[in-house]
Amino acid sequence: MTSDLIQQTLQLLDLAGVDEQRAEILTLTEGVPRILKSRKRASADAAAALEATREKVKGFQAHLKTLELELAAKEEAIHKANGNLLNANTNQEYTLMQSEIARKKEEKGQAEEEILKQFDVIQQGAQMIKDAEARVAEAAEEYRGFEERAQNELASHQGELDVLDAKRVNIRRAIKGDVLTIYDRAASAHGTGVCPVESDICQGCFSKLTPNDCSRLAAGRELVICRTCQRILYLPQALQASPH
Ligand SMILES: [Zn+2]
Repeated sequence: MTSDLIQQTLQLLDLAGVDEQRAEILTLTEGVPRILKSRKRASADAAAALEATREKVKGFQAHLKTLELELAAKEEAIHKANGNLLNANTNQEYTLMQSEIARKKEEKGQAEEEILKQFDVIQQGAQMIKDAEARVAEAAEEYRGFEERAQNELASHQGELDVLDAKRVNIRRAIKGDVLTIYDRAASAHGTGVCPVESDICQGCFSKLTPNDCSRLAAGRELVICRTCQRILYLPQALQASPH
């Protein structure tokens, strides 16, 4: 392999290495907004849960109001029945009316118990709201922390990219324009523009090289391109064997 060709291949491999690192960093960078978005969804879910809990507790309070109205109606009925006692004509009627009043009082007692129970339910509801509020705050705090880390990460990725970009410009400057054109075309099609040949097989697309291309590659005097994937080919052992 001529030393020019060795130099060129080494530069192409350097370029491929830099391009690969850039692609990895870009993938990481692109992932950040997506992750942020899903974190934001967790915050929104917590807010929706809080809203649902508030609605539920409103329902508890509405039920208490109903129970209180029912109790008032029962008290009113007892009051009325007590007044009616005066109108009893016989002892038997009086006794019946009294037992009716006793029954109404029992019902009133049950209604009062239900109201007390409902107070407990509402108190539990207040605690549920507090818990949901705490989860909203927690999610917001988590999001802030994550966002900060994500911004730092993005900034550090950008720093790495800047370094790689400078390196890339330098490497490309040393490579001939027509070779770069071939490299760039294959790189944009396959991600890599240069690849090794092992046992007469292109390691990029795994096609077998023609005997003619094999001997051209072994002679090491000219650029050989895979006829299938158009990547620039090289023999790893030729690079290792040659001093550079
Ligand atoms: Zn190929």
